[in-house]
Amino acid sequence: MANKTTLSKLVNNVSCMDDYDPNSMPVAKARQFIQQFLSPVAQTECLPLRASLARVLAADILSPANVPNYDNSAMDGYAFNADDIHTEKPTHLKIIGTVFAGKAFAGELKQDECVRIMTGGMLPKGTDTVIMQERVTLENDHITFTEAPKRGLNVRYAGEDLQQGQTVLATGHLIRAADLGLIASLGIGEVMVYRKLKVAFFSTGDELAGIGEALKKGQVYDSNRYTLYGMLSRLGVEIFDLGAIPDNPELLESTLLTAANQADVVITSGGVSVGEADYMKLLLAKHGQVMFWKIAMKPGRPLAYGKVGQAHYFGLPGNPVAVMVTFYQFVREALLALMGQPRPAPLPMFNVICTEAIKKATGRTEFQRGILFANDAGVWQVKPTGAQGSAMLSSMSLANCFIVLDETVGNLEAGALVQVQVLEGVI
Ligand code: AMP
Ligand code: MG
Repeated sequence: MANKTTLSKLVNNVSCMDDYDPNSMPVAKARQFIQQFLSPVAQTECLPLRASLARVLAADILSPANVPNYDNSAMDGYAFNADDIHTEKPTHLKIIGTVFAGKAFAGELKQDECVRIMTGGMLPKGTDTVIMQERVTLENDHITFTEAPKRGLNVRYAGEDLQQGQTVLATGHLIRAADLGLIASLGIGEVMVYRKLKVAFFSTGDELAGIGEALKKGQVYDSNRYTLYGMLSRLGVEIFDLGAIPDNPELLESTLLTAANQADVVITSGGVSVGEADYMKLLLAKHGQVMFWKIAMKPGRPLAYGKVGQAHYFGLPGNPVAVMVTFYQFVREALLALMGQPRPAPLPMFNVICTEAIKKATGRTEFQRGILFANDAGVWQVKPTGAQGSAMLSSMSLANCFIVLDETVGNLEAGALVQVQVLEGVI
């Protein structure tokens, strides 16, 4: 539906889209809107393998060889040719040598011969099967067994993990610990990745004090720049913290322009409430193309998205919990797309029993802070963290998940099945 809409068309004439209501924007729809304007940063760089952790591949990684490279034993045992198996009497084989992992066996086996072989040892010419050492009777230089393995048993074949030329990891893949090992197993030491995404952010508000300053009456310490720093650091982007800016039009304007000039993405918190007369909205209208939404969610109702110059812009609400919720629901996925992931995976979501009753109005999606825990029987359940005010950052610190209650959900009794979105390891 929204695919052919340009940002400027949308900003200048909201009625150009069917069922677009900036005053009651469903979460999924806002996410979809944002996604259509995102494409990966253009520049790439070649990095040593370890430095590529948490970056996104900008070129496919192809296997330069078969993995494993040669047929080898999956067990400590004896390698032999299955043609030598007797079915009517015990099989009796002569041991003519030993193969250790990493060493090739020079000789070739003749009829009724075998070699002792260690796990990972290369299968000698003429053998095709390995019998576990526990399954044989050893007598001097001979082994005997009655229960013969099937041909090919306990053999890892060349290329059974990866075939030469196969795409092992595709462009757009976010590199994790397992991938570093996988790439190393191919003997590849350098990878092509997208350059780091540059993200600038600042807080807005006359009431904000910085750490180290004494709080004057009516002031609060700026916490949003710290949660944003934490969440952005986890994503592995380059961070530009432009400070806490008072509600002063000149200062806000110069900071916004500096941010848009130096970064791919600008994030601000505070001052984007719909209907609120504040400077940020006027400035964004002057310098950018920005949509202002009331999202049908709690917390995190006001949200702005658009472009300021070449930079993507996210205007998050001021309330500290709302900043985190909107970051996880909208910004995280958008940044991953800009970092080069074509279809960023949403946070994992699943159903569990909630052990406490929940009060909730229908009509909007709530992201309550929850604690996933294993009960005495070892079954995972969830309970809310307690008071859910959108300024209570302690509820986020206590939480390891969001309890996601969609628009159709109303009050819930204890024992109801709810959806949870796991945060542990993400924050
Ligand atoms: P606003 O969206 O600017 O109206 O702010 C909403 C609420 O969030 C107000 O109570 C602000 O004081 C608070 N707030 C805004 N920015 C911050 C911040 N950086 N740190 C802590 N609280 C903030
Ligand atoms: Mg404000």
